[in-house]
Amino acid sequence: MEKASMIYEGKGKKLYNTSHPDQVIAEFKDDLTAFNAEKKGNEAGKGALNCQISTEIFKLLEAEGIKTHFIKQLDEKNMLCKRVSIIPIEVVTRNIATGSLSKRLGIKEGSVLPFSLVEFYYKDDALGDPIINDEHAILLKCANSQEELEFLKETAREINEILRSFFDGKGLNLVDFKLEFGKDSEGNILLADEISPDSCRFWDKKTNEKLDKDRFRQDLGNVKMAYEEVLRRILN
Ligand code: UDP
Repeated sequence: MEKASMIYEGKGKKLYNTSHPDQVIAEFKDDLTAFNAEKKGNEAGKGALNCQISTEIFKLLEAEGIKTHFIKQLDEKNMLCKRVSIIPIEVVTRNIATGSLSKRLGIKEGSVLPFSLVEFYYKDDALGDPIINDEHAILLKCANSQEELEFLKETAREINEILRSFFDGKGLNLVDFKLEFGKDSEGNILLADEISPDSCRFWDKKTNEKLDKDRFRQDLGNVKMAYEEVLRRILN
């Protein structure tokens, strides 16, 4: 499958049309951004690592019955996907408190949450992706119904159970992660975007070492080595 015109360039990926109306190609970029793109960087090889990590995770989720936009990996940093129209909600699931949850609510960094917390953020760069509740989501027409929102939450919880146990077996704590969903031409809701150390937090179970984009956000160094380590553990 060949790339045709570019549809969109995002912070982490470029999206291309193909000769098939229902298929697009996602090209994973080496660019890194944080804090609503106020901090920018580039890590050669990061795009390829995220493409492969996302591929492995989408395959795992598909095998567990989760419907995703993933069709196949085309090469190092290109993935063939079903065309979807993205629901403008970032669905964040958290197992351990850190990041904006700790900052906003004063919950101690590293505390294990008594249950998996699912949050919605409105995907809008100009507004800085604000946290929203169900009624805001309906008001903003992000979703058509409460049932759709319940489906997003339920699916995020299911994905959390699958991934948490998978990464636990790889010696990693899945701290939190962000999902995006989209609708295909028939209105089915599919998991879309990517699942990678750009969108998840992974802490080593033994040392609590951060193996994700926090290495870039917090200038901890060895960003690429951390992503390589995540891939190595996934494949082992
Ligand atoms: N996240 C993301 N994209 C965003 C915001 C958050 O992928 O635009 C991910 C982030 O990597 C983490 C989780 O969602 O795994 C929760 O992020 P948090 O709200 O703590 O964000 P922070 O403000 O700390 O970046």
